[in-house]
Amino acid sequence: MSNERPKAPRYRGGRRGMMLVFSSPSGAGKTTLSKRLIMHHPDVVLSVSTTTRPPRPGESDGEDYFFVDHEAFERQLAADEFYEYAKVFDHYYGTPKGPVEDAMSEGRDVVFDIDWQGAKQLAEKAPRDVVRVFILPPSMKLLEDRLRKRGQDSDTVIDGRMARAEAEISHWEEYDYVIVNEDFSGALEEIELILKAERLKRARRPWLRGFVDELMKERR
Ligand code: 5GP
Repeated sequence: MSNERPKAPRYRGGRRGMMLVFSSPSGAGKTTLSKRLIMHHPDVVLSVSTTTRPPRPGESDGEDYFFVDHEAFERQLAADEFYEYAKVFDHYYGTPKGPVEDAMSEGRDVVFDIDWQGAKQLAEKAPRDVVRVFILPPSMKLLEDRLRKRGQDSDTVIDGRMARAEAEISHWEEYDYVIVNEDFSGALEEIELILKAERLKRARRPWLRGFVDELMKERR
């Protein structure tokens, strides 16, 4: 009797990437969560948005955002270079098309840190590929504390962000998954479970058709 293990079917491996969209009010932790997810998973890439907002201390061009002026943004918009875009607070934010299309065609998953308007546009454009995750803070008090601790924005900006937070949260039911970011590692674990389960979906495993054909041939 051979104790050789059966060989893995040659169809396995190839898969269709997904667009994993994270939205949340500012300060609920989605940026940190998405960055950590990418660190743990080399086959997941982050979509870097273009914005007209000025960089915050510590942010770098090309890594956190592509920082551009209004004119450049409008030029790119007119040239149809964005997958989606939205005006958030007083600034424009947009998702450049090129890197997303490249990553998807290589079978990688792309993470988007965008607001509800962007999530909606992406889901309309690519309903089969988009998985939407909303991240909630455990309390509004904690959200405000986190925004204050950043120490980067004035009181008026923070008040504005709290009002926006309520508006953003009102869209929670448009998402496939909703996570309460009570503790960071718990939230990360839940996101990793979502990634795992979504990768197992039939439509994301195109090799299954060939595999089943081979199974059927064995019986003929
Ligand atoms: P912040 O200025 O705090 O980095 O981002 C403000 C809001 O804009 C956040 O909710 C963020 O998710 C959202 N945002 C960032 N990039 C994009 C984008 O490319 N498209 C859309 N629709 N929203 C974005």
